[in-house]
Amino acid sequence: MTHSFVRVALDTPVRRLFDYLPARDTNRVPQAGARVRVPFGRQRLVGVVHSLIAKTEIAPEKLKPLLEVIDAEPVIDAGVMELVEFAAQYYHHPIGEVIGSALPKLARNGAAAQLALERWFATEAGLAALTGGELRRARRQLALLETLRDEPGVTNEALTARSDDWRTPMRALVTRGFASSAEVPVELPAPARELIREPGPPLSDEQAVAVAAIDAAAGRFTPFLLHGITGSGKTEVYLHAVEHALRRGKRALVLVPEIGLTPQLVGRLRDRFAVPVAVLHSGLTDSERLAAWRECVSGAARIVLGTRSAVFAPVADLGIVIVDEEHDASFKQHESGFRYSARDLAIRRAQRAEIPIVLGSATPSLETLQNVAVGRFTRLSLPRRAGQALPPRVAVLDLREQPVRAGIATPAVEAMQRHLGAGGQVLVYINRRGYSPTLACTACGWIAPCRDCDARLTVHLAAQRLRCHHCGADAPLPEKCPQCGYTVRHVGQGTERVEETLAALFPEAPIARLDRDVVRRRGDLETVVSRVASGEARILVGTQMVTKGHDFPSVTLVVVLNADQGLFSTDFRAPERVAQTIVQVAGRAGRGTRPGEVLIQTEYPEHPLLTSLLTEGYDGFARAALAEREAAGWPPFAHVAALRASALTLAAATEFLRQARSLLRGPRGVKVLGPAPAAMAKRAGRYHAQLLLESRDRAALHRTLDAWLPGVDALKAPRELRWSLDVDPLELF
Ligand code: ADP
Ligand code: ZN
Ligand code: ZN
Repeated sequence: MTHSFVRVALDTPVRRLFDYLPARDTNRVPQAGARVRVPFGRQRLVGVVHSLIAKTEIAPEKLKPLLEVIDAEPVIDAGVMELVEFAAQYYHHPIGEVIGSALPKLARNGAAAQLALERWFATEAGLAALTGGELRRARRQLALLETLRDEPGVTNEALTARSDDWRTPMRALVTRGFASSAEVPVELPAPARELIREPGPPLSDEQAVAVAAIDAAAGRFTPFLLHGITGSGKTEVYLHAVEHALRRGKRALVLVPEIGLTPQLVGRLRDRFAVPVAVLHSGLTDSERLAAWRECVSGAARIVLGTRSAVFAPVADLGIVIVDEEHDASFKQHESGFRYSARDLAIRRAQRAEIPIVLGSATPSLETLQNVAVGRFTRLSLPRRAGQALPPRVAVLDLREQPVRAGIATPAVEAMQRHLGAGGQVLVYINRRGYSPTLACTACGWIAPCRDCDARLTVHLAAQRLRCHHCGADAPLPEKCPQCGYTVRHVGQGTERVEETLAALFPEAPIARLDRDVVRRRGDLETVVSRVASGEARILVGTQMVTKGHDFPSVTLVVVLNADQGLFSTDFRAPERVAQTIVQVAGRAGRGTRPGEVLIQTEYPEHPLLTSLLTEGYDGFARAALAEREAAGWPPFAHVAALRASALTLAAATEFLRQARSLLRGPRGVKVLGPAPAAMAKRAGRYHAQLLLESRDRAALHRTLDAWLPGVDALKAPRELRWSLDVDPLELF
């Protein structure tokens, strides 16, 4: 069969593919998965060849030829293309945009896929200028040009090693036509003879059992839950699973939820293995991202480590996929554009590649635990801490029965004294940044509100600002009530205030703070982490950020200041998140040789969630929570999709959803809830509402969505209205 047409995916919000004729001036027919440049209206776009086809429904006179075939080899291999297609279907998102999110920005713009180094050369004119003496008065340019003459093809790296500031004179040389650069393909380094640089500690019995089970599943799709308490040595199991895959000549894909977690794991991978590791995350510059992607496409990288979108990394010959902290909400893209779960897509990828996948967590998601319960996933347990570390002692502090100073109960202060006195470090967790969450007038009852959100402004005392944590609004901190002129008061605690209180209580103990106000630039996180790891800081105060994976061996006491937050949320997932946070933050205590202690402050010590967590641990909590979900018909016992809309008025958002709802004609087995305003309806000056579709039958839900969405696409709506579909939403606003 001859393929006369090229079907191309373009990064546009339209739910379809576009057909083209082959390029005119070349007989090179592109392969599926290669990038091409095409005319699109008045634009020229880079797209990815989806398939070559023999027939098209487009009238011949309307077909245009490709402008250029960019890649000789596919940059999206058949496996990733299949994943992309699945994702587009499952999340009901335009395939072109899905492919767009699988490529780094510079690759979407057409940058070459080959690993290449920029190399510099003197031009003929440049060589002539050297002898002609034209550059006598430009000493730096002259010296640089001499280097190019003596070392044709010198790399950026070599030039930087010689002088920090070679780019300015180089620009001048290029402008004068005396120097030019070329991208020269890099030869792949020969594989190192020794795979292992530094062997790890001998495995514990449980670790060895887990590694053997994963190894025995090689070449077959086998999903594992590696359920190990914090510090139990999960990472060590990952490293062995990766090693076994590498020994079979395969590659490994490792996903982590947060950029902040990559440096540690990259470090451990590079210390262990003498093979190239490519790192892909959103904190990279565009060119760093392109470089990492090239290492994947070229096959140079044997291990690929990355956050969410790395699930689409073009890694051939995968032998193992690892998803660390699988319960983490960051795996779900829920803010904008293409909303997908990298964990769930990773499972799909492993399934199609017929390889094992390891989902690791100390606090597995209820979805994953249910998959274990019905036998779809195999659980591997690491119930003990690695090395000599013992599990911490956990106790609840009833805030109603204790003297409390600035949010900290007296027994907690005494415990801190004890642990600091014994040379331990103390971690204090509070889930709010800033100084205090409320600024209130003591006379008239005024409370500083955000103008654009249904929310209060948070006091940032050091910066003397009032800020909204939802829309970013930022205003000077008033000294007097703007309404009546009376004194204002800071109500409640945030990390900044807790730091202040602790500094007054323990003047001798240096304090480190970890929250989004402190960590703003690259390297900030590492600075804080190293202050704690080195022992210089004795107390660490932080938000959610402190719960994520860091290993601080000398922390012996963890105090959770406000466990109550979230116990009474309307979101059915809130209890799961509270339990995970408590268990994760508690897991930071006593990871070294000294035993740990955890104090949980609460006003609701008899809340069933807290009691099941404390008496039966996370497993007991999960059993109770799953039973509740089943009774209420929530995921994982039902499947949910949310159609969300936002507009300048709540009426407009709701009206759109009402029309969308009216297009649903009695879908069988699918329950429709709403439209209803979001829990925080007004955010950043826009009003949000949602419509929920729910079904016990996943296929029925997706059939309904398939039949429904083209109609929703075609609905007439005010220009400013925005809507999106979220399949398997993690948060119900
Ligand atoms: P997790 O990923 O479960 O939090 P890690 O793999 O980071 O746990 O292990 C926690 C600590 O225990 C690390 O310092 C690690 O080097 C150490 N460790 C892991 N496995 C072993 C083992 N088998 N013997 C001794 N120490 C170990
Ligand atoms: Zn007032
Ligand atoms: Zn706001």
